[in-house]
Amino acid sequence: MPIDNHIPSRFCASPLSGEDPITRYLRRTGYQRFEPLAALIDMDGTLYDSMPHHADAWKAMADSAGIPAERDEFFMYEGRTGASTINILFQRTYGRDATPEEAKELYGVKSRNFQAMPPVDPMPGADQLLREFMEHHMRLVLVTGSGQSSLISRLDHDYPGAFAPDMRITAANTTQGKPHPDPYLRAMALAGVEPWQSVVLENAPLGVESGFRSGAFTVAVATGPIPIEALWAAGADIVYNSMEQCANSLPKLLFR
Ligand code: CA
Repeated sequence: MPIDNHIPSRFCASPLSGEDPITRYLRRTGYQRFEPLAALIDMDGTLYDSMPHHADAWKAMADSAGIPAERDEFFMYEGRTGASTINILFQRTYGRDATPEEAKELYGVKSRNFQAMPPVDPMPGADQLLREFMEHHMRLVLVTGSGQSSLISRLDHDYPGAFAPDMRITAANTTQGKPHPDPYLRAMALAGVEPWQSVVLENAPLGVESGFRSGAFTVAVATGPIPIEALWAAGADIVYNSMEQCANSLPKLLFR
């Protein structure tokens, strides 16, 4: 099925109807069945509680550059490239994009702010969910637009055995980032699965849109200040209010 066929139906999602999420997923995709074999999992804000640090680092960069910004707006931009986020600020403040030199310098400031912060914690509940996936023999693939090697290198310590070294899509493996479906389609290819065999786990609207457009069953977890309505609107097949709730409920839905 062509990917573009998935896009319009997102606006018809009716999360309040009480309809079974998998039934709704099958209707929106046109697939005949859903047999989850692989979990394709975002990192920032999903496996790690890193988004508050990112938002603080962005806000401090904007303050130091004299650019008006709200700290919480940066949660909504999660998944964008650094330059894209800087251009939002520039367009709003100066009515133009940043030059490549300005974007590079300001993103450097943001990155240094982030690196100066204390280490981030694993997201509570994520370990339980990954162990459930592994007990059900799901293939796990990390799918992040991040190039934060400090976090990626912690995965083996915090989530031992979850992500094989060749089961990771990072900023280095993809040219078209979220919300384009490419990162999740590449993850499916790595795992050797089809969309109807895939579960995407995300926390932010652009990531949810990427999962939705890939044709996977897309799970959104509200782990920060992003309103759940924004996650539904991005195309989530189901939304949980926390990773703990997701860990307690999602396996019952997937493996019933
Ligand atoms: Ca994320």
